[in-house]
Amino acid sequence: MYLQVAVNIHIYQPLEYATPDEITDDHNSADNNTLGLIFSDPPPSSGTPKQCPKNMTGCRVLVPVGSREVLGVVISEHRKNDISDNQNCQRTIKKVLRFIDDVPVFDHNILSLLLWAASYYHYPVGEVFFSALPPLLKNDYPATLPKIEGWEKSDAANPEKIPCRSSKGRDAWNCLRNKPLATADFKNMGIPVTVLKGLEKKGLIKRINLRDRQKPWYQEEITVNHEFIMNGEQNRAVSEICAKNGFNVFLINGVTGSGKTEVYLNVIEKVISKGLQAMVLVPEINLTPQTVKRFYRRFSVPIVCINSAMPAKERLNSFLLFSGGNAAILIGTRSAVFTPMRFPGIIIIDEEHDGSFRQEDGFRYHARDLATVRARMENIPIILGSATPSLESLYNVRIGKYHEINLLSRAGNAQPAKIIPINMCREGQFHGISDSMLIAIRAELAQDNQVLIMLNRRGYAPKIICHDCGYVFLCGNCDSGLCYHQDRHILLCHHCETRYPVPTECPVCKSRNLTVTGNGTEQLESCLKEHFPDESIVRIDRDSVNRKGVLERYLQEINDKKHHIIIGTQMLAKGHDFPEVTLVGIINVDSSLVSEDFRSREKLAQLIIQVSGRAGRGTKKGKVLLQTYWPNHPLLELLINKGYNAFAKEELSCREKLRLPPITSHAVIRGNSPSHKSLSDLMDEIYFFLLEICTVFPHTKIHPPMAASMERIGNRYHLNIVIESETRIELQKFLTTLINHKNEIRHLNNCRIVIDVDPSTTL
Ligand code: ADP
Ligand code: ZN
Ligand code: ZN
Repeated sequence: MYLQVAVNIHIYQPLEYATPDEITDDHNSADNNTLGLIFSDPPPSSGTPKQCPKNMTGCRVLVPVGSREVLGVVISEHRKNDISDNQNCQRTIKKVLRFIDDVPVFDHNILSLLLWAASYYHYPVGEVFFSALPPLLKNDYPATLPKIEGWEKSDAANPEKIPCRSSKGRDAWNCLRNKPLATADFKNMGIPVTVLKGLEKKGLIKRINLRDRQKPWYQEEITVNHEFIMNGEQNRAVSEICAKNGFNVFLINGVTGSGKTEVYLNVIEKVISKGLQAMVLVPEINLTPQTVKRFYRRFSVPIVCINSAMPAKERLNSFLLFSGGNAAILIGTRSAVFTPMRFPGIIIIDEEHDGSFRQEDGFRYHARDLATVRARMENIPIILGSATPSLESLYNVRIGKYHEINLLSRAGNAQPAKIIPINMCREGQFHGISDSMLIAIRAELAQDNQVLIMLNRRGYAPKIICHDCGYVFLCGNCDSGLCYHQDRHILLCHHCETRYPVPTECPVCKSRNLTVTGNGTEQLESCLKEHFPDESIVRIDRDSVNRKGVLERYLQEINDKKHHIIIGTQMLAKGHDFPEVTLVGIINVDSSLVSEDFRSREKLAQLIIQVSGRAGRGTKKGKVLLQTYWPNHPLLELLINKGYNAFAKEELSCREKLRLPPITSHAVIRGNSPSHKSLSDLMDEIYFFLLEICTVFPHTKIHPPMAASMERIGNRYHLNIVIESETRIELQKFLTTLINHKNEIRHLNNCRIVIDVDPSTTL
């Protein structure tokens, strides 16, 4: 047999290998093995050559590449004579060294998804496959679930006889009367293992792997605890989604607090009651114990989580439990989209507009887009939900690809919060906070309400300068100013994370008169502390919640009303439910109104609406104050007076006029290198090559190499070539032509080149 293998190295195509000799015949005669397993031995940890499993496609293998041994995943298998009889070809085909798995780690649909992704994102196939695997499986770690040690009565024991004089022994025996139990359960009851071992010695009980005895969730009765009675809109949404069979994309466009989660839960209930599985993808920061608890409270079925911050073993277990069909629900962040589903039921993407669904380095992909491709391959429905849908999704509604479902009112009795601009030109201010904002905060606190203030910049101040000569402290590795962090007492580069000591004098004029400009969340916190010394303030940003569990603790404390003032960056905007917050203050968003990135207006509108959505979610009415120097800016006026959907419609027609995505398609060729000269030579060469092939692509435009928005980061220079195509298909053909001709363009002269398809920014 010959195998196509996605090998974990930086080449675009799969490689061809032959199966190891000794087993080829066995393999042919093993057709009666229904489980797809020939060998029941546990997987060897390393070393021993392993024979081929019955079902080789989707298994990890060790293969030779040059003089190295590298892991790969089998993509397909075919007989020798399927391949051309070319003698040369046959002679050069090497053999697989060993099989790591005896059951596939990826099923057929995941293989198709990964092949599709490698070709759509133009990324080396093996690297795509290996970035989709849980970290432990990137090595030869066995893909097996750990045993759950447990005990049961041995067959010989007489159930009526009390075999033991010690009370703990009797307790243990009684517990095992009706069903087996885990060692951990005994420990919880205060019965130590020594007691169990004693009973084992007497031949009364025996050790088992409880995992083998667990009854699958779909054979048990599923219990569901409803918290609310759905309102009319929610009911209609659920019936509309459940009325259709097979692949369909639903966009739930529902205002903040309209009860989208409640809709997901009701749809999931219908799915799991049929014995099918649900995959729920959430933004990075939303996978908190609160989210998971809401699912646990609702359903009795096994639920697993996957995110990049969790311990590797736990993550592998979640992967195996879900792919084996032993968990009903998976809640995960973007990389969870690659988890196989044994009983595919539904995929749900919550906050589908969120930037964290996009992987921004290495293999760059969009988990929302891959999830829709996957749903099509699995032939199951997918729900995208947001109060501020991406223009991509709204465009897909417009062209009839997605079904839109609107939830126009808040669930329960909550009222939408009104956004009121504060004209900063007419205001006195203190460290960036206007007088009107301070008065409003005081009024809410007097009524025992919570306030939430958002400033989308962490640290104390974004710049530190010499007051006498104007010298600005810059990062030595980047074209970036240094941010002053008062808490950690350092200057920090937000691009390469290099830290510098806080200076005492100017390196140029030796003046000690140094000052900061601009403000960040730390400054906001100390300023509000000064104004409200008796209030408890909590700050939520990447610095304050960088340790595990801290964010969860803060969120709980906010819900318990331990803090009345909540300060933070855009982290606060994401889907959190703070029922006691009545005032949201947005400090400064003006810089986003003048960005050169065509997506910045969309991102700003989403941020404003999302953070505003944290106000007035409970029984009390909420309001939002937005500080700006441009209260009459058309974007703000439209957003404030007409809402997000009106804004999005207007923005979409702008994109249409300017022929920008999602109407057209973009790709960026990103190059970086420590040498500006070699990079710019290489980028020029690529550019001229692109111009050449461009002649047969009439609807594709190439822009000359341009410095990235920050040209030097971490001592590497960054240049981009932007490619614009009128259609996605033409862009794909164009990029394929590029890869076919210029397979070797990457890693030349210390230059790294990547292709970024559907980039989140072209800067
Ligand atoms: P979204 O995800 O749309 O922002 P959630 O699902 O978190 O909204 O619901 C917002 C709030 O409304 C939550 O506190 C939730 O418990 C409550 N809620 C949802 N549905 C109902 C309902 N049918 N009746 C009463 N309260 C509801
Ligand atoms: Zn100076
Ligand atoms: Zn830096």
